[in-house]
Amino acid sequence: MSDELLLITDPCLLDHDPGDDHPESPARLRAILERLEAAPIAGARWLAPAPASAEALLRIHTPAHLEGVVGLRGQRRWVTPDTAVSEGSVDAALVAAGAGIAAVDAIVGGAARRAFCLVRPPGHHAKPDRVMGFCFLNNVAVAAAHARAAHGLQRVLIVDWDVHHGNGTEAAFFRDPDVLVFDSHQSPLYPGTGELDSLGQGPGRGFTVNLPVPAGSGDGDLVDLYRRLLAPIAESFGPALILVSAGFDAHARDPIGGLELTERGFAALCGVVRDLADRLCGGRLALFLEGGYDHQALAESVHACARVLAGDDPPPVPEASERGAALREIFRIHHARYWPALARARG
Ligand SMILES: [Zn+2]
Repeated sequence: MSDELLLITDPCLLDHDPGDDHPESPARLRAILERLEAAPIAGARWLAPAPASAEALLRIHTPAHLEGVVGLRGQRRWVTPDTAVSEGSVDAALVAAGAGIAAVDAIVGGAARRAFCLVRPPGHHAKPDRVMGFCFLNNVAVAAAHARAAHGLQRVLIVDWDVHHGNGTEAAFFRDPDVLVFDSHQSPLYPGTGELDSLGQGPGRGFTVNLPVPAGSGDGDLVDLYRRLLAPIAESFGPALILVSAGFDAHARDPIGGLELTERGFAALCGVVRDLADRLCGGRLALFLEGGYDHQALAESVHACARVLAGDDPPPVPEASERGAALREIFRIHHARYWPALARARG
């Protein structure tokens, strides 16, 4: 098993251009790549992925959805009130989804230990049958389904620390007890879902864990939730792979989100999931870029996480605020109905 970190990206991902005033611009990825070129990550290797196959995409998306997305090829127009395509968007979306496939193949096949998919368009709002919130194809969901179908992995944990609720990912696995979706997000905020009571359905009940946090929550508050709630839940679940929807719009400088994280907080969150992956599933961990709209904050946060993925110690962060600790206790008691380990994880 190699200890290598794979950084997965492709120049064609810059060809998705929703327009000059759109926050999800190619300049986001350019800022990340420039930062990683200026200060390379020791031990990291770059990989350009192939586009995702229809077979891989249809594990999550409906045939009508895939046909609709592919049918946008070469067009320049608004698809929803907030999501636009340019001539290169469809190929970028297919390669973004393909990055997750490549990450899973490399990690499960032993060619790398961890991966970071530096991709756009993002994916976690894309529903099985719907383009939504800058997202066309659900990159992280497609990767989770691929890990199970192509590699026979039993259980996959998806963590989502983007400031927005990953409603598309939740929808894809809402009835599925083999994919646990753990999602922290600001509430209230777009898309308005992700309530504490949204727990999954049927056999999947309990396997959707939503942590809606108020504006102003910071590094200490979020890291506390991951250490004290994600860790015991993940240990009980026993994943064979951990995938992260890593959005960086929870950064204090982000123009869209209202949380107060810093690059240190993101690195600390990354440290929590890295240590869980090392302990529970042989290190198998892949991050997927989702949101993040202040270019400098985004580039610094991605770089900080990449360093942790490459083996650096995560930085210390403050304790949770009084408000954060009180909210964590509410979450803990609420989710202990389905995760008894939380009943023992007090304080
Ligand atoms: Zn977001």
